[in-house]
Amino acid sequence: MSSKISSKNKKILLIVICILFIICNALFVYFLIRPSIKLLGDKEIHININAVYEEPGYTAKYLGSNVTDKIEVTNNVDSTKIGTYTIKYVLQKGNVKKEVTRTVIVEDMESPSIELTGDKEKYLCPNQTYEEEGYQAFDNIDGDITSKVERKEESGKIIYMVKDANNNYTEVTRKLNYEDKEAPIIELKGGETYTIGQNQKYNDLGYTVTDNCDGDLSSQVEVTGEVDTSKIGEYTITYTVKDAVGNEATTTRKVKVVEQQASNDYVGDGRSIVYLTFDDGPGQYTEKILSILKENDIKATFFVTNQFPRYQGMIKKEYEDGHTVAVHTYSHQWAIYDSEDAYLNDFNKMNEIVKEQTGSYAKYFRFPGGSSNTVSRKHQLGIMTSLANLMQSKGYTYYDWDVDCGDTHSNNTVDYIIKMVKTYTRKGRSNIILMHDIKKNTMEALPSIISYLKGQGFEFAAIDENTPVKHFKIAN
Ligand SMILES: [Zn+2]
Repeated sequence: MSSKISSKNKKILLIVICILFIICNALFVYFLIRPSIKLLGDKEIHININAVYEEPGYTAKYLGSNVTDKIEVTNNVDSTKIGTYTIKYVLQKGNVKKEVTRTVIVEDMESPSIELTGDKEKYLCPNQTYEEEGYQAFDNIDGDITSKVERKEESGKIIYMVKDANNNYTEVTRKLNYEDKEAPIIELKGGETYTIGQNQKYNDLGYTVTDNCDGDLSSQVEVTGEVDTSKIGEYTITYTVKDAVGNEATTTRKVKVVEQQASNDYVGDGRSIVYLTFDDGPGQYTEKILSILKENDIKATFFVTNQFPRYQGMIKKEYEDGHTVAVHTYSHQWAIYDSEDAYLNDFNKMNEIVKEQTGSYAKYFRFPGGSSNTVSRKHQLGIMTSLANLMQSKGYTYYDWDVDCGDTHSNNTVDYIIKMVKTYTRKGRSNIILMHDIKKNTMEALPSIISYLKGQGFEFAAIDENTPVKHFKIAN
């Protein structure tokens, strides 16, 4: 009985083995004749819009041989349009067909950009509120999305955030440092160089100080250095100031103490320069004189008066033509030397007119009669000394002259005026030439004077801060 069972089991076992053998062979044949396609790279690929889709590749086998070149690929990817695309890879061998697909997703993967106006790192005064300087946001697809920017203030920074329509997110930060890093600014009234005659009283012209955080610090300035006007030379005054957190500013003024020259003995810095200066106008010849200067491309200096009010408008023209407008006197009466008040009253009236015509006050002036005049003695003794000091302490600079063209006397001819200029103008120095734009002969002499001086190689200039100061010896 037991052997019967055993023989039956053997049969079953044999049958199972046979079935397995057949299955294995069938599978073997199936895998052998089945075409296979293998995709290289991922089955799902994400690419940015407008990027080029690059096929990662594929291989195919059939009956053990490479049939990659038999694959037909259908690719409808349009990378200019957002969307999901399917690429089909098909291998057809007789009745056997094999197809695989790959998914390509075209999407906007690019984040917008945010541009900040102003610095990304700001220094603010303590307690100062930051005033937004602006920003712009751009996206490759959506364009200008500035209006979508959200702004968040946190301690010490501002965060700007934006998302584009495809949820790409960008944030930038502006750092706020509440720290005063700027030193105050010192501005010297009267400029960084100042020239004063020997033995005149030096009064500092003062300064203004502004600080980005602390405002006006003028009262905090420490001034060091001294000027000894009894000795000719160059002196330095130093101005130092600190703001509340210790940022320090310092500046210096050079004060030159020069000899009170006698007429015509002045020697400049070696350059041959002519300063044409016209007193007593504007008047009826001023316009013509301006046009002569313009034709010759020469800048001059006008020491103006109000003797002929109907020509006041010429002051504006002098200024617009690039000449220096300086004060001579409003009235041109000797009574201005009665007192300091009388002088100042006359001077200020004229300078108001200058301001009206040119937009700013004149810094330069010329005393009627020159600083060495003695007529003023009849009005007040010592007035020229006190006026020279007073006016310089107010920041004004006066100029006398090196060459008098002699045009004040009406019987002096055009030829005489030309001759005077030729005789007394010297090379290798600064020549301030005194003329009057209310004189017909001066107007007529001017073209010859200019052409002579040009021929001699002189430079022409209008009085400015670089002009050597010419002061006569005060005689009252
Ligand atoms: Zn005059």
